[in-house]
Amino acid sequence: PPAIRKISEEHDKVFVTGCLEPDTSQPRANAAFVVLARNKELDGVIQSVKSIERHFNRWYHYPYVFLNDADFNSTFKETIQNYTSSPVEFGKIDPKMWGFPDWIDPKVAKEGIAKQGDQAIMYGGMESYHAMCRFYSGFFYKHELLAKYEWYWRLEPEIKYFCDITYDPFLKMIESNKTYGFTIAVKELKETVPNIFRYASAYKRVNNLTSQGLWEMFVEPQPEKPEELPEDDPNYKHPLPEEILRGDPSRASLPTIDPEAMEGEKYNMCHFWSNFEIAKLSWFRSQEYEDFFQMMDRSGGFWMERWGDAPIHSLAAGALLAPRDIHYFRDFGYRHTTIQHCPANAPARQMPRSPFLEKTTLDEKKRKEEDEYWDSWDPVKENGVGCRCR
Ligand code: GDP
Ligand code: MN
Repeated sequence: PPAIRKISEEHDKVFVTGCLEPDTSQPRANAAFVVLARNKELDGVIQSVKSIERHFNRWYHYPYVFLNDADFNSTFKETIQNYTSSPVEFGKIDPKMWGFPDWIDPKVAKEGIAKQGDQAIMYGGMESYHAMCRFYSGFFYKHELLAKYEWYWRLEPEIKYFCDITYDPFLKMIESNKTYGFTIAVKELKETVPNIFRYASAYKRVNNLTSQGLWEMFVEPQPEKPEELPEDDPNYKHPLPEEILRGDPSRASLPTIDPEAMEGEKYNMCHFWSNFEIAKLSWFRSQEYEDFFQMMDRSGGFWMERWGDAPIHSLAAGALLAPRDIHYFRDFGYRHTTIQHCPANAPARQMPRSPFLEKTTLDEKKRKEEDEYWDSWDPVKENGVGCRCR
């Protein structure tokens, strides 16, 4: 899409080219890794920590914050400490930030979730997954263990960095006045977010926000057939069922959808893949982002549909930020399960023309091969230059 090209070429450049030695000369940023995980994911978390330590944090020593809706067990906590010398904190998530809010009817929500399970919507039938997406959309940055930080870098189980990261991305983000950084952008599964764009557009409209040039990244340029929303269609003002609401109606009114907000606009399903993120917490903590989250939340879409935090963060960025606020970490070699981003071949760390170009989907066998290759790869022998792709 044209807007992503703007991020790549006009308003955003790779932070460092051809750098060899890790630059640790400056003081660290006020930042931490944030890892949400379950005890049973320990192996996957170890893999991720090993990878980020090897390729970045053995030089920079940024702290970790691990979060869980349950208690981390002692095996989890003790094992993690063996893989890093950085400070590590473990936090439990308050039920207020996880699960059904008190203004929705859990019976209706559970039925909605079961239906998504029947329809084989990916993770649609898993209540905990819905809770996780809502937590990452509207709460993680409010967790008490993150209160002291201004920046975070999100890590997930089973991710892998291929390249040495020899500069401090937080400092570069600060220096160049960036808010949000990504390394992979992909298309969302349509059936997980049927109504997300209506509400996001309505937010934009209701708050008189005009695009600063990023919104277009998420709009299908020429819809085959513009979405028609007749005024008398009851679905159209509140496409999500009102029965989900209960309790004090003033605390739980459904957002209104403005028909004109939708005119000719259709979500192209593009989003920043949020399992990697480096971003500024003050943006999430801003009134504008809170209003956005409230509007989305009040619709019930986190339960009656399976809205991911990735399209939520992305559409919020589209509504509130400009291309110059976004950084594309095109130089990071990164994989999460089956999708990876590989920078253009070293030594120049040239930037790919679009984040879509350098994305590869791998099957199990190919992934094993790649793992063996990267595990045995010695960056010093390979001219000491960050990343190479095969
Ligand atoms: P995927 O990447 O979309 O396939 O989903 P994941 O299963 O990796 O979940 C995304 C993130 O949320 C990962 O960091 C998981 O560890 C975490 N996560 C997902 N569900 C839960 C849960 O029920 N409890 C906790 N504590 N973490 C969860
Ligand atoms: Mn994951």
